[in-house]
Amino acid sequence: MRTLILPVVMITGLIAQGSPPERPATADRPPSAPTFNRQPLRAEALVPLPLGAVRPAGWLQRQLQIQAAGLTGHLDEFWPDVGKNSGWLGGTGESWERGPYFVDGLVPLAYLLGDERLIAKARTWVEWTLTHQGQDGRIGPPQNTDWWPNMVMLKALTQYQEVTGDPRVIPLMQRYFAYHLANGRKRPLQEWASYRWADELVSVIWLYNRTGDTSLLDLARLLHQQGTDWKRHFAGFPFKAKTTSEQLGVKPGGKLPDRAMLAHGVNNAMALKTNGLWSFVSGDPTDRDAIHRALDVLDRYHGQPNGMFSADEHYAGPDPSQGVELCAVVEALFSLQHVIRVTGDAALADRVERIAFNALPATFSADMWSHQYDQQPNQVMCTLAKRAWSSNGPEANLFGLEPNFGCCTANLHQGWPKLVQSLWMLTPDQGLAAVTYAPSEVRTVVAGDIAVTITEETGYPFRDTVRLEVSPAAPVSFPLLLRIPAWAANASAHVNGQAVQGTLAGGFLRIDRRWTAGDRVALTLPMTPRTSTWYRDSVALERGPLVFSLRLGEDWKKLTHGMKKPAAPPGVDWEVRPTTPWNYGLVVDPSAAAGVKVRELPIGDFPFSPMGAPVELTVTGRRMPEWTLVDGSAGPLPQSPAASGSPDESLTFIPYGSAKLRVTAFPRIDASKGGK
Ligand SMILES: [Zn+2]
Repeated sequence: MRTLILPVVMITGLIAQGSPPERPATADRPPSAPTFNRQPLRAEALVPLPLGAVRPAGWLQRQLQIQAAGLTGHLDEFWPDVGKNSGWLGGTGESWERGPYFVDGLVPLAYLLGDERLIAKARTWVEWTLTHQGQDGRIGPPQNTDWWPNMVMLKALTQYQEVTGDPRVIPLMQRYFAYHLANGRKRPLQEWASYRWADELVSVIWLYNRTGDTSLLDLARLLHQQGTDWKRHFAGFPFKAKTTSEQLGVKPGGKLPDRAMLAHGVNNAMALKTNGLWSFVSGDPTDRDAIHRALDVLDRYHGQPNGMFSADEHYAGPDPSQGVELCAVVEALFSLQHVIRVTGDAALADRVERIAFNALPATFSADMWSHQYDQQPNQVMCTLAKRAWSSNGPEANLFGLEPNFGCCTANLHQGWPKLVQSLWMLTPDQGLAAVTYAPSEVRTVVAGDIAVTITEETGYPFRDTVRLEVSPAAPVSFPLLLRIPAWAANASAHVNGQAVQGTLAGGFLRIDRRWTAGDRVALTLPMTPRTSTWYRDSVALERGPLVFSLRLGEDWKKLTHGMKKPAAPPGVDWEVRPTTPWNYGLVVDPSAAAGVKVRELPIGDFPFSPMGAPVELTVTGRRMPEWTLVDGSAGPLPQSPAASGSPDESLTFIPYGSAKLRVTAFPRIDASKGGK
């Protein structure tokens, strides 16, 4: 039997024994009303709800509790970069992006859980910024002169305002944006800020919708004028293969030249929202639709089975042994959540689920006390070793406190909480849309002023049914839109037991009716196993929104020396080595995934751990002895179809996010050649 070892540091006492509440504890909270785009901004296709309107339940609530008991809930206690001496708390320490990154995830996590300990922490940061604005309008540490970290703090402040209604936030933002508009020409966006200008635009639009101050649109135009033209970048897209430091002009300790900034993974992930958000101001349909070209070229030249593009710092090509950075994962999610506002495209929500349910959990230990800088779809060994990254160092795929570089340590916190907020959105005609699925409760107003609560009970993405209970304060007519993922052929929906027609995969099912308290909707999204085709015609297994990986035995060992910055306790750095073979090919029919067996297991407290995987697939494979390790990674992927003379074996697959070592893209074996 293979060894499956879960890193158990800090798990003890993590989740109170017994059953955590399945329902949010705040069902008596008032409904949260959305804020619509104000003229002359273009109308949104789907309107985001304010933080707090959607609360997590079930496994998603437990995942947020794991996060609160893990790094997010404790990082400030032992990691100096977000500790008491942060410049963002009036100290002399880190005064750039790390404090704001931390707060951008801490605020929503704290309020979604209603966790008083975390709320107190979040308020400390927010309070300092609110009470230390300069006379001229500037915010943040006086020693910081870069526009970029302020953009991140503004995102945190908008969330805080939404959930608390604190009357100081909007005036502070008005003064700050007036300051930026007054000074923006003599001190234009530079370096990171010029590539990430949409991270300010998102807050400029947020404030304009609340004040109608047209000078904010002037600021939006200034940002556009000074910021990177990402539409042009993706239209011409010159980076059609893995990049190298030499080619990009990356020098240790030096400033990154423009071509390296354009090929930079996190910049690209942030950039995904740029043209869509800008289209609210420009009204130009080519801005609105630019996301499709961006995703198309990223998929074609750098696409990975986890829904991301590879960028182990910079674009790294389609080989599944290349990696992608955690910051890029959470920023791609944030970007796509905003682009859905713009286009209302169901395929973008499919993409959000693919990243959120696969790439996001994959890159953390199950207890969320350690994370990777880079994850690999084919990740057979996480050790301190030089790997074939585009430009990252030997620590990049370790599970640790700050492997390779500490940006992800500061920025990892926003992923799960912002997913909660974007599960539900409002439609322009005053209805509600289930955009992505997970156990939750939404409480808002529809049809002008009628309070409505919808509880969503589901084991999605591990299970194929979603049950909604609709509870308006009074009987009311409004459209309820349910996304039908592109993979969900033969989906079915029922309202109070009666079938609803019109479930078309890849769009939204619209149910127009008069809703009364206690109405029940049942949605079934059949999760037939299927295959997808990747680099060198390799094959991956999928079921519903989940990608599956070969379950490997994992041997976790603490790393005590050799790190640039070893983890201070209670942080910990881990190496992970396989205890079972990984070099298999699969005997599957690429069109039908016939022969794949599905086994559903309980959804426990740690679904994103090898031992807690709530679904297993079984499929036949054969060893491929010629496929070997090269520099600590799975070596060159054999071209499919491949041959193998090894005997058939029954292989177990678990969700990509549950497997911390994994193989995801496999040679497909032509069963007619060799074997028995
Ligand atoms: Zn990072």
